[in-house]
Parts: sequence; structure tokens; C-alpha cells
Amino acid sequence: MAEVTPEGFRFRTGNAKLYELFGLSPERWIGASPRELFPPQTAEHIEKNLRRSLEEGRTLRTETAMATAHGWREFSASITPLFDENGRARYLVGLVMDVTEYKRAIRRAQEASRIAAERAQTLKTLLDAVGEGIFGIDTDGAIVFWNPAAERILGYRASEVLGLDAHQTIHGQHPDGTPHPRQECPVLRSLLENRLIERVESYFCHLDGHLIPVLLTATPVPGSGAVVVFTDITQLKSLQEELQHQAETDPLTGLANRRRFFTALLLAGERVARKGDRCAVLMLDLDHFKAVNDRYGHAVGDTVLRSFAEILRDSLRSSDLAGRVGGEEFAVLLPHTDLAGALLLAERIRHAVASYCRVPQHPELRMTVSIGASELLPEDPSPEVALARADAALYRAKQAGRNRVVAACATSQPD
Ligand code: GH3
Ligand code: MG
Ligand code: MG
Repeated sequence: MAEVTPEGFRFRTGNAKLYELFGLSPERWIGASPRELFPPQTAEHIEKNLRRSLEEGRTLRTETAMATAHGWREFSASITPLFDENGRARYLVGLVMDVTEYKRAIRRAQEASRIAAERAQTLKTLLDAVGEGIFGIDTDGAIVFWNPAAERILGYRASEVLGLDAHQTIHGQHPDGTPHPRQECPVLRSLLENRLIERVESYFCHLDGHLIPVLLTATPVPGSGAVVVFTDITQLKSLQEELQHQAETDPLTGLANRRRFFTALLLAGERVARKGDRCAVLMLDLDHFKAVNDRYGHAVGDTVLRSFAEILRDSLRSSDLAGRVGGEEFAVLLPHTDLAGALLLAERIRHAVASYCRVPQHPELRMTVSIGASELLPEDPSPEVALARADAALYRAKQAGRNRVVAACATSQPD
């Protein structure tokens, strides 16, 4: 409490907390003016506020910082004039509350929230900028965030997918149209088993319904869900397919090369042995082809080979497979076909070659082909045995005068 005297303000009573705060004894405090106790600037500040409260005749609230026995502290203060019966204020009551810690806590909270906002902004900038699609799911598998790359790759806007079940919306289908069960889903596995699933190839469904091959990584976030990062690998896939095709294709004729043909033969052999499927093979060899090369040159020989391949392609069903297994030796795999069916087809091919296998610049050039046919048998130790039977039949066709089809004896061994 301060008293208003003709010489200015003088402190009267104070409490123990006040004395302790400023490191003063009651003796020093009581009767002293602000200037006698505080540095000039602080004293001036106190006097100014006391004066204002007095002049305005009302409680004045201020926030202020002052040097104390405990260092620089911040205060919330109020000064209230007390009036006597004549309406004159002789005393002013001051209440000071040390708000240093409170202010510090507020500043710390403000700083923490500023840093959090900054981090959130940085994270958002990152999520927006990266080329990979990124989305988050909660523990129920519902989409909780969806970045612009995910929008671009899968066609859905974030606002369209937030809250939807991720698996059902974009991951519920295999490329062949069959359902992709939840228990096989790598993303849900990451969530349920709480483990990182890294660089798994899968397919996500675009808004327009077509499937997009993706390489995905699912990272579980314990208690919150999981984050999925994915890359569209359409181009990589088609490049892979192109390379695979190149590796399996004969460059001159575009037919399957030897490797691809023998792989298919092996699979067909398994189907015959296990499921009792019927399957036949043809071995085909152009007649006197060496003479074509010798007479017309290698380039014309190549044209004949391409023309022959064209006839094969035109004669076969999509499930059949024609391969170039040697220089001018070809083989044809005929699934779901018995020997009789194979012989009919072989005869059609033989006839077509004799009729159409031409080179435009040399209309007089005629080709013929000899063909051996055989059926894969469940008791064959390997399907190559059946191919060898067809080859033996082909040899007999050559021996018999060429331009003909010969059936292998079912039990005959290669010559
Ligand atoms: P046959 O009726 O007994 O089968 O007689 P042929 O002359 O067809 O048989 P042969 O195996 O003696 O000759 C095959 C020829 O095919 C020899 C080779 O120069 C030729 N040849 C192999 N690959 C190619 C090719 O890619 N292009 C061309 N133009 N010729 C090839
Ligand atoms: Mg030959
Ligand atoms: Mg030949």
C-alpha cells in the first residue's frame, strides 16, 4: 500500500512475499518513496502508474517487468485508489502477481506450436513435391491422407478418398479380374503384423477402373495405422515385357525362339502328364532350302523364312505356339490337339507353303516343307521325347521324297 503525501508517494504496508521478492526489510519499505527503493527507471514507472490510477480514480491494470532480488521478473499488477468520505484518495493498494513462469510457459507453448506448424508445413510441402504416391491409412484401413502424386497416378482427389477403405477402393482386384483378398494384401499385412513391407509389386485400381502396376512400400505407424509409398511402374513393366519378348522371340521371323518354345513344351508336358490333356507337336523343315540360298542369295532365303513364318501364324490358333528351333527348322506346339488333329493342320500348312510361299521379286521361286507330327504321351519321360519322335517322322518324310506329312508311331523311339 502506498500513501499519497505532499512530497509524493510513500509505501506503507507490504506483505512478506513482497519484501522477500525485492529483498527488502519491512523497515526499509515502510515510509520509503519508490525512488529510494528502486532504480530511477523502475521508480518512474511505478510512480507513473500510481499517478494514473489516482487521476483516473479507478483500478489500473498493467503488465510490467522489474528487476527483483531474484533477477528480472514479469508481473501482472493492479493499482486501486482508496477514497475517504470526502471522495479524496489518500491511499493506493497495489497487487503484484509474479507471472514470469506463466509467461514463460505460454511462450514455450507458442514456440512449440510454431515449430509443429512449421514441421507440418514442411511435411506437407514434401508430400506435395515428391513424385511417389503417398497415402496413409488408420488402424481400420481407412485413408487418412493422400498426396498430389497419388491423385495424379490413381485419378482420385484426396477429398474423394479420405475416409474410404483403402483396400476396397484401390486394391481389391487382381489384373485378371479376380478379387484380391484382404488376407493377401501386403498393406494390411504391414498393418496387422506391424512390420515393414518393402518394394512389393502390386496393382492399384485407377478411378476409371484400369489397374496400374505399382511398386509399394508399407510402413506401419504403431497406434496410428500405416503409410504407403508407391511408384507407378507401368513404363518399367512394359519395358520388362518388351525385353522379355525380345529375349524369347526370333528376330528374323518374329516367332518364338528355341528357348521360349522349349519352356512352353515343358509346361505342356506337365499338363499332359498331370491332367491327361492332349497335346501334339510338329517338326517342320523347308525342303532344299540350301539351294535357295545358293541360287538367290541369303537375303532372299531370309524372305522365304519370313514368308513361311507368316503362313504358320495364319494357320495357328492363339493357343498354339510356333517356334524357330534351328536355321530353317521350325516346331509347332498344339495344345488340346491329338495326332489326327495335328496331321490335318500339318497338311494345311504343307499345302499353303507349296501354294503361297513366294518372294515377290522371284515369282518362279516355289518352296515346299516336310513335316513330322507326334503326340505328347503321358508315359513319355519328357515332352522332348515326343519332339524327337516328330523329328524322326520328319526325317522319314524327307526320305520319302519331301513335301509331305508323316505321323510318328506312338511307340517309336527317335532314329
Ligand atoms: P533338306 O530338304 O534336306 O532340308 O535340305 P536343306 O537344304 O533345306 O537342308 P540343310 O540343313 O542342308 O540346309 C539348311 C540351310 O539353311 C543351310 C543354312 O545356310 C540355311 N540357313 C540356316 N539359317 C538361315 C538363315 O537364317 N537365313 C538363311 N537365308 N539361311 C539359313
Ligand atoms: Mg534343315
Ligand atoms: Mg531343309
